[in-house]
Amino acid sequence: MSQQTKYLLEESDLPTHWYNLVADLPEPPPPVLHPGTHEPIGPEDLAPLFPGGLIAQEVTAERDVEIPEPVREVYRLWRPSPLYRAHRLEKALGTPARIYYKYEGVSPAGSHKPNTSVPQAYYNAIEGVRRLTTETGAGQWGSALAFACTLFGLSCEIWQVRASYEQKPYRRSMIETFGATVHPSPSPLTEAGRTILAADPDSPGSLGIAISEAVEIAAADPETRYALGSVLNHVLLHQTVIGLEARKQMEMAGDSPDLIIGCTGGGSNFAGLAFPFLGDKLAGRGDPEIRAVEPSSCPTLTRGTYAYDFGDTAGMTPLMKMHTLGHDFVPDPIHAGGLRYHAMSPLLSHVYELGLLEARARDQRDCFAAGVQFARNEGIVPAPEPTHALAECIDEARRCAETGEEKVILTALCGHGHFDMAAYDRYLSEDLIDRPYPQERIDAALERLPKVDV
Ligand SMILES: *Cc1c(COP(=O)(O)O)cnc(C)c1O
Repeated sequence: MSQQTKYLLEESDLPTHWYNLVADLPEPPPPVLHPGTHEPIGPEDLAPLFPGGLIAQEVTAERDVEIPEPVREVYRLWRPSPLYRAHRLEKALGTPARIYYKYEGVSPAGSHKPNTSVPQAYYNAIEGVRRLTTETGAGQWGSALAFACTLFGLSCEIWQVRASYEQKPYRRSMIETFGATVHPSPSPLTEAGRTILAADPDSPGSLGIAISEAVEIAAADPETRYALGSVLNHVLLHQTVIGLEARKQMEMAGDSPDLIIGCTGGGSNFAGLAFPFLGDKLAGRGDPEIRAVEPSSCPTLTRGTYAYDFGDTAGMTPLMKMHTLGHDFVPDPIHAGGLRYHAMSPLLSHVYELGLLEARARDQRDCFAAGVQFARNEGIVPAPEPTHALAECIDEARRCAETGEEKVILTALCGHGHFDMAAYDRYLSEDLIDRPYPQERIDAALERLPKVDV
């Protein structure tokens, strides 16, 4: 067996098109509804928030969507990204399984997020938009959008969940280094923020609240648009460069995955890796199992309800059918900040309802243990989010050690953890607790879902 560790593509192997799974699904996803009328929305309803180029991608059923050359030029700063075979981890686990990971931590922001922030900034810039607003939790999306905005000459204003703003100052500094402005959310700058602060001056904030603030500012200014780092169809589309490259790299390795594992917050890195393989599977080429892993403290796929809900806390966004914990969800302070959104991508939710993928939830201490084991064998300290996927890979590889199965496992190592050392510190000093999500809160949130007759 070859001991090759790293599978690298040439710059000329960079994908020319993103892959749109919608073209190959047996059933189209449910429509997005207007928050007031509950009628399906049209492109004009989204125009105050997004540029036409992205709205077109949000609704298209075209299979292969061309990547504009100026976007590919920026992608070349770090893409194609490497695929690794985890030989040392396999050996440590004594497993006959073969574990591959696609590493997205080589990007300028240290995660997969620039795969979408770059095209989002590009489409806004060519349509004459001057400023983008967005939310960020731990700061990964904020730093990715700030990077893209500076390249395309846009100004960028970011509402960061207050708990992270205070606990994770260095992502904020990185955002400011790229030239963007950061406000802690809830902020007194918006109606949405003022309402929350009036009820709770010490609110730690949430992604849903920060989205309300960023949307409110964008909707009020014709030269400003809003950008979202996950959840939406166009974001998942942009992330498919991960899976398209990984598919070529698996061919170089002479293997094809039996099991694809990824972590899910809003679903974008997972979909980015899995959708090209799922498209093959739907076309009868290969039959990998596909498994999403989420935190047990924010269990949207495994315990949320599949229903129409808002994307933000104040109820300003269109209604999307998705697995949700309720739009007024305020997460417990777990360390995988990127996995704390109240809902799952509508497209990924639909794919889950069609029975095309599985989902598991995991406790954070197990995940950090996996992250540490991974770091000690592979030399990369993973972000807390992908440790959820790594914990699942490690369990699966251990099962293979018992059964002798030579399973091929592929995962997305979607970011490094260099800004998350405080979280590792707490894990290593045994100061971290698991926070399973209480059933009462799930039940209570369901009562507050918008009532939609469809
Ligand atoms: C944002 C982020 C996530 C969660 O978002 P998805 O859309 O589910 O991918 C996971 N990992 C990292 C490193 C992130 O930055």
